[in-house]
Amino acid sequence: MIDVLIVGGGVAGCSAAITARMRNLSALVIYAGGGALEKAHRVDNYPGLPEISGPDLLEKLRSHARNMGAQLQHALVQKVMPMGDSFSVLAGNEVYEARTVLLCGGTARVNPLPGEEDLLGAGVSYCATCDGMFYKGKRIAVVAGGEEAVEEANFLADLGDVIYVEERKHATDGLSPAIQHLKDKPVAIKREEQGMVLVTDQQELAVDGIFVLRPAVALTQLLPEVATDKGHVVVDRDMMTNVPGVFAAGDMVGNPLQAAKAAGEGTTAAIAIAQYVRKHA
Ligand SMILES: Cc1cc2nc3c(=O)[nH]c(=O)nc-3n(C[C@H](O)[C@H](O)[C@H](O)COP(=O)(O)OP(=O)(O)OC[C@H]3O[C@@H](n4cnc5c(N)ncnc54)[C@H](O)[C@@H]3O)c2cc1C
Repeated sequence: MIDVLIVGGGVAGCSAAITARMRNLSALVIYAGGGALEKAHRVDNYPGLPEISGPDLLEKLRSHARNMGAQLQHALVQKVMPMGDSFSVLAGNEVYEARTVLLCGGTARVNPLPGEEDLLGAGVSYCATCDGMFYKGKRIAVVAGGEEAVEEANFLADLGDVIYVEERKHATDGLSPAIQHLKDKPVAIKREEQGMVLVTDQQELAVDGIFVLRPAVALTQLLPEVATDKGHVVVDRDMMTNVPGVFAAGDMVGNPLQAAKAAGEGTTAAIAIAQYVRKHA
């Protein structure tokens, strides 16, 4: 069983992984994308690394975490399930068991479409690789939350007829010409007798399955038990949430939204996690 499973491979997640390894914990970092740092053209106030670009800083953090022995895995974490004194974590099509979970998902806010959460697993999927084969030869709608969706949509286009609708405007270079790319905005999802319906601001699209491909998952879906205040996860001085064994750090827990603060909180959380794991061994 993994000592700490870290959701998010940004500043907070990598910083936590580095300290967790120094405390001899096994650490798995699962990240869906580059987070805020990837968008930062230049960071001038990260101690010791002046005038560094966000992507370069991110690469340094990730390779530091890897060199310390942390495992880094690219996937979207869909669900964290408390199982008494451990957690089951669903990421992509894998289930991981962990003693503790550290949430470092950044500021990515997700507002599920009306109907989306109710129909998850019943016509709505968050994972093309996991569920794509169910829609071989079928009509598929993709609700794309960011450019990460392009690759998965192309995978689906090898299986069925894909309609691509952007939830947030993003680069779509590399989108397969076989995909029908609409300008519509997604509004809701519903199920009717003949199948699934993606409601947009222009029309109602009758399809067989709907893939909602975002670089993040709503906290209400990920771990609804965690308490929040004004959209931020509530933590104590050890960065632990109201759910014993679940910690949070970085932009997810609130202002100031700064890289050095995220790194410090990741370190604090990892030290507290080491104490927690030892106490509950
Ligand atoms: C344009 C821009 C410029 C900035 N400039 C500066 C600056 O100059 N100085 C400064 O100090 N700060 C700056 N910041 C802020 C800084 O980038 C953030 O404070 C910092 O990156 C927060 O780190 P984090 O680890 O909390 O979140 P992030 O770095 O955003 O990382 C979040 C991680 O969580 C992952 N994730 C989210 N949900 C899931 C999920 N369900 N499953 C798997 N992975 C998930 C993401 O893919 C990502 O890997 C800037 C931010 C932006 C956007």
